[in-house]
Amino acid sequence: MSARASIIPVFVPHLGCEHACVFCNQRRISGAQKPATAEDVKNSIEQAAAFLPQGGKRQLAFYGGSFTAIPAEEQEALLTAAKEALDRGEIDAIRLSTRPDAIDEAVLARLRRFGVETVELGAQSMDDAVLRLSGRGHTAADVERASKQIQAAGFRLILQMMTGLPGSTDEKDVETARKIIALRPDGVRIYPTVIVRDTALCDMWRAGKYREHTVEDAVRVCAEILPLFEAAEIPVIRLGLNPTDELTGGAAVAGAYHPALGELVKSRILLNKARALLRGVEPGSRVTLTVGKGKTSQMAGQHRENVRRLTEEFGLAELKIRENPELNGEILLFSVEKRA
Ligand code: SF4
Repeated sequence: MSARASIIPVFVPHLGCEHACVFCNQRRISGAQKPATAEDVKNSIEQAAAFLPQGGKRQLAFYGGSFTAIPAEEQEALLTAAKEALDRGEIDAIRLSTRPDAIDEAVLARLRRFGVETVELGAQSMDDAVLRLSGRGHTAADVERASKQIQAAGFRLILQMMTGLPGSTDEKDVETARKIIALRPDGVRIYPTVIVRDTALCDMWRAGKYREHTVEDAVRVCAEILPLFEAAEIPVIRLGLNPTDELTGGAAVAGAYHPALGELVKSRILLNKARALLRGVEPGSRVTLTVGKGKTSQMAGQHRENVRRLTEEFGLAELKIRENPELNGEILLFSVEKRA
């Protein structure tokens, strides 16, 4: 955790959620969950105080997806505990995540009253057919309306999108990224679809009604999407589900679950850039590519996969990588020795 921003998470399960997002297991596991309480907020802040680095911004984050859709009294109880901690200087900011159709002026007025700084919206897709097939229960127009209201009310806006949802394609996922960029959020999270046990999506997949969005599918499409956000100077604050013992221990039954997905995507972006540079290089050449400081392993890929692919695709005699501290995400063709 960096000294710049420390997150103190409080998970707010959405018990009795009326929606049926196919990838979500809230309904089926809600019997095992308890609602979050003001006491949980206080305890989380107290426990975090012991290990968070000094000097960084401490943000209390209500996670769980639908904060403003839970009963108003529960929201107020949690927000009261958070605001008291904010006023005492124990935390520096409050953030929460919610659904686009659970935002209106009254909701935003409440959040402002309790000092919330950042609102994170699960957009997931900007394609209405994909949203419908995914059981989201809202439209792309809801995302646009809610995003504009949040920004107009002066909150920081973070948008979440998913890739590989039912009915989606790489083109639709890229289009979703473009539409999200047009909304100018302060940051985005990208979650390639993971098939979690005890979900409708898992049933659909087992019945052959949904094709798994594999790690390779996610890497391919995210390697297109990430540069779009970078070019638009919109920070991607998360790529891929946070690895947890539960997911790693079997709850993620298929789909794009990989503890280092972000690294794989960055490595693929460098592979694509190298491909563009090597176009036209004569087969049999000895090539050296230059990358930024600390980027050698990203360029080489997991188990030197990128080196193997490039060597094969371009028929190279040799491919070397060297670092140049002045380069950042860029790569350059340092030297090409043609076959004698
Ligand atoms: S992801 Fe969908 S189904 Fe799950 S809690 Fe949120 S709104 Fe409800």
